[in-house]
Amino acid sequence: MPDLTGKIVFITAAAQGIGEASARAFARAGAEVIATDINQDKLSELDGTRGITTRVLDVLSDAAVAEAVAETGRIDVLFNCAGVVHSGTVLEMSDRDLDYALDLNVRAQVRTIKAVLPQMLERKDGAIINMATVASSIKGVPNRAAYTISKAAVVGLTKSIAADYTTSNIRVNAICPGTVESPSLHDRWHATGDFEGAKKAFIARQPIGRIARPEEVADLAVYLAGATYTTGQVHIIDGGWTA
Ligand code: NAD
Repeated sequence: MPDLTGKIVFITAAAQGIGEASARAFARAGAEVIATDINQDKLSELDGTRGITTRVLDVLSDAAVAEAVAETGRIDVLFNCAGVVHSGTVLEMSDRDLDYALDLNVRAQVRTIKAVLPQMLERKDGAIINMATVASSIKGVPNRAAYTISKAAVVGLTKSIAADYTTSNIRVNAICPGTVESPSLHDRWHATGDFEGAKKAFIARQPIGRIARPEEVADLAVYLAGATYTTGQVHIIDGGWTA
């Protein structure tokens, strides 16, 4: 695990799932972590954890993001983890679902990057990690139209930033998990009306025979935070789903 001592990591959607596991992993690696989320109650469970400061933040708000970044000061690592999964095909997808997926999964990342990148450019140093998924430009997954469209844009965003700013020593990478155990995944299984059946079907599509633990994805985020020579890449962590 890289030593992130002295690094300041700003992370969105840190109250649960991959974001929470990552906040804890960054802190264990020695970083000073600003863990943000819209869900104050859940986020407060991180209060008192060494190396972690929590802050309520709605990444859909320009003003709130600008204020949070200004108050934080130096940010060495930005981890854009916030995201939402809609179910449905392109014919079932409402304009509202697509707009929301684009707002939370893409525009929110653009918003935080625009807020943080200028200071990284001044220092000629910074790492940005964007949460995508294999259900993006990597792989078509049934019933995930809005999600796949929006997360493919995250891959494009990542490539675009690398093309423009690698010469300024900004490293930007996308993480593409397969299926990861998280509260929202459980909500999706419940929503099918057959929790155990849905769980079984999700596990069956993973060649490795199980769903990922959030901590496994968090380890990749910590690696990317400390990595100095990888940029513009999609880092797939999917238990062999796309192998
Ligand atoms: P999750 O979906 O269970 O939690 C999402 C978090 O986002 C919640 O804490 C919620 O409060 C927060 N959030 C929602 N709207 C917000 C807003 N406007 N501002 C700030 N925070 C907000 O967590 P997860 O399943 O670990 O997903 C985290 C990320 O990983 C998402 O981008 C998701 O698309 C991606 N991902 C998840 C999986 C998976 O199988 N779980 C797979 C691939 C990618």
